[in-house]
Amino acid sequence: MPNQPLGFVGLGRMGGPMAGRLLDAGHELVVFDSNPEACAPLVARGARQAGSPREVADLAELVLTSLPTPDIVQAVAIGPEGLAEGSRIKILLDLSTTGPGTAARVAAALGEHDIQWVDAPVSGGVAGATNGTLAVMLSCPRATFEALEPIAGIFGKLFFVGEKPGLAQVVKLGNNLLAAAALAVTSEALAMGVKAGIDPRVMIDIINASSGRNSATQDKFPRSVLPGTFDFGFATGLSYKDVRLCVDESEALGVPMIVGAIVRQMLAVTNAKYGPASDFTCIAKVVEEWAGVEIRG
Ligand code: NAD
Repeated sequence: MPNQPLGFVGLGRMGGPMAGRLLDAGHELVVFDSNPEACAPLVARGARQAGSPREVADLAELVLTSLPTPDIVQAVAIGPEGLAEGSRIKILLDLSTTGPGTAARVAAALGEHDIQWVDAPVSGGVAGATNGTLAVMLSCPRATFEALEPIAGIFGKLFFVGEKPGLAQVVKLGNNLLAAAALAVTSEALAMGVKAGIDPRVMIDIINASSGRNSATQDKFPRSVLPGTFDFGFATGLSYKDVRLCVDESEALGVPMIVGAIVRQMLAVTNAKYGPASDFTCIAKVVEEWAGVEIRG
């Protein structure tokens, strides 16, 4: 789609840097976020600010979204003043984690407007969004995947999951369950070590050279828990949403998810205690409080 502006709705922790990468690559952008402050850095770099999702879709054939919850994705896509009402849009590429149910529902509704839905959830956090090192998993018709490769490739490594809407979401939910489970169980192991008198940095170094290493020991603990900053960049409310969607999907498919259900409860406690806007590394604080220790080093 040469010389066409791209649309981008949802310019938060992930969407902001991803939209910035599109500008870096020379694309024209038309942007919308319900929080005008989120648009400001992109507008300062030449992006055009629209007044609604519909206005974005009046100007761009390809619109990307990075929005917090399934309800918001649905409202932005097919609600009043939504993308489906736009005159120009042909493809909606959704980078959010929405779950397969929403993906299928929105894809069907958009189909009635001759708009192609592409689910393209991403993994790799704010650092990956900034550096273009995300894992981007797509489900859509194969030909659409091939047409989108040059643009989606700006965000990181692409994976084609299949043609059915929502398949990529299933992969993403499985991944995020594992990330949250690793965080919860690493908190337990480290709290035990600290209570026994071990320096948590020494314990993390040993685990990272051993069979227990995982994304929490390699990344989240050294970066956000040991220094006590709890600022990894992923909200507790969003992680809770992802694991809830994951357990629901598993139940719908008739697959028991016992450990997953416990991870969901750990996030429910963290969400209740520290609030949905807190960083999800606050799971460790819940375990610290129960254990009566702090995991700092
Ligand atoms: P965020 O809350 O930082 O950003 C969401 C943005 O959407 C905000 O700027 C908000 O103002 C905007 N928004 C909310 N409602 C809107 C509406 N009705 N219309 C237009 N804009 C609206 O969230 P995030 O961390 O950037 O996450 C975005 C999505 O990416 C979520 O689905 C999340 O699960 C997923 N995700 C996040 C991470 C991460 O590490 N943060 C990693 C992978 C995937």
